Amino acid sequence: MVLKFNDVNEFPQLIEDLRTSFTKHLTKPLKYRKKQLEQLYNLVDENQEEISEALYKDLHKSKIESSLAEIGIIRQECLDALNHLEEWTSPEYVKTSMIYKINKCHIRKDPVGTVLIISTWNYPVNLLLLPLVGAIAAGCTALIKPSELAANTAAVVTKLFPQYLDQKAYRIVNGGATETMSLLEYRFDHIFYTGSGAIGKIIMTAAAKHLTPVTLELGGKSPVILADDADIPISAKRLVWGKTFNSGQTCIAPDYILCTRETQEALIKELPKVIKDSYGSDPQKSPDYGRIINQRHFDRLSGLLSRTKGKIVIGGNSDRDDLYIEPTIVSDVPKVDSLMEEEIFGPIFPIVVVENIDDAIRYINEKDTPLALYPFSKNDKTIKYILDNTRSGATVINDTMLHVSVPTLPFGGTGASGIGAYHGRYTFDAFTHKRSIMSSPLALEKLLASRYAPYKESNFKL
Ligand code: NAD
Repeated sequence: MVLKFNDVNEFPQLIEDLRTSFTKHLTKPLKYRKKQLEQLYNLVDENQEEISEALYKDLHKSKIESSLAEIGIIRQECLDALNHLEEWTSPEYVKTSMIYKINKCHIRKDPVGTVLIISTWNYPVNLLLLPLVGAIAAGCTALIKPSELAANTAAVVTKLFPQYLDQKAYRIVNGGATETMSLLEYRFDHIFYTGSGAIGKIIMTAAAKHLTPVTLELGGKSPVILADDADIPISAKRLVWGKTFNSGQTCIAPDYILCTRETQEALIKELPKVIKDSYGSDPQKSPDYGRIINQRHFDRLSGLLSRTKGKIVIGGNSDRDDLYIEPTIVSDVPKVDSLMEEEIFGPIFPIVVVENIDDAIRYINEKDTPLALYPFSKNDKTIKYILDNTRSGATVINDTMLHVSVPTLPFGGTGASGIGAYHGRYTFDAFTHKRSIMSSPLALEKLLASRYAPYKESNFKL
């Protein structure tokens, strides 16, 4: 299926129409929001087969990975929003001091307005539609733009979208950098962007012109600290799973491992068996092993691997025509190395030897704050020490990536890994303005008049 880009000349009218629908309150009734959430659920549920096929064409994504990390997550988030909509939208009554007891104070949950959602290609269904769940739940109108790089998936979702969602309130447009830059010229009430930090800066700069708030779901290098007392057989399985799920093209994939030389040796002994158990002796033939999104990213990864000063101890094979890179472990990677310059975003796992936990912590803290941090240790004191002395968007202890599937945990970065958070209620919050409401009674004017000038000291506690 061919992905057709929109003509940028359509954008002003399209955005105007979404604004009009919002100001006419189309998206605010809870009944309407529920219907649209049900429709979004149906979109992914009734077309699972077609969507999975598109994901396979784009990323060689296995049916199971598509079901777990794309379609299943959207179903789960739609149900979560449907089940909690009354609770989330209810006014929050707040405690006040004695002096304000006679005023009624509460927080109203107002939708922020017309929002723009810009997505990326590695989980092209999940990352496009999950923010939309929150935008619908909050009562916003929304314009969504998939990544042009996962073209098959974008084309299928673009075809299905108008069949399920109300076009007066939710629209999908396609394009690359030119079209996205054109969209960013217009004023939105919130921009929700998922992708690299480099483009994140462009988005935030454009948003600043209109003082539009942003959520930036970015990436970075998420480190693993493998302590000497870690359970090596279990750690090896969990590390390989995190690094090879979607061929390592996951924003929270464990990027690199920090451990001592002894632990490195123990881990390297364990890894070949784990990789073979998962993907057989030739992962290229495995139905469960993904492909790199395109030749540009394939060449980027091959370049990083060809310039490393580390030792390729497992894997290293690749096939450009098939966009295949074997699960590859690189040991003894120097602290300054091609593999340590940027987020890897592929199935290459560097191991950097450190002297001890403090050395690992120092190394992490010298770099940008990561989206996720994965400490492996059997000792609670070691884990606490690592938590106390590092920062990260999230931390999973003795495992990788699982936090992403818990909707009650806010998902997002800090510092260079992002601004804001979402999933479950937090997505609703991202598109909601918490409006403070105070109602002053007219009947008690005498009592309230003590604040007016001319001031009397006796009326105030100074
Ligand atoms: P990408 O190339 O698909 O770009 C993301 C979006 O920005 C696309 O919609 C694209 O059309 C648009 N875009 C591209 N160039 C642009 C430009 N010059 N100006 C304006 N818009 C432009 O994706 P990417 O940036 O390669 O994404 C990969 C990154 O995303 C990785 O760093 C990864 O860690 C991160 N990521 C983060 C999360 C998260 O939830 N935090 C999830 C997935 C990926």
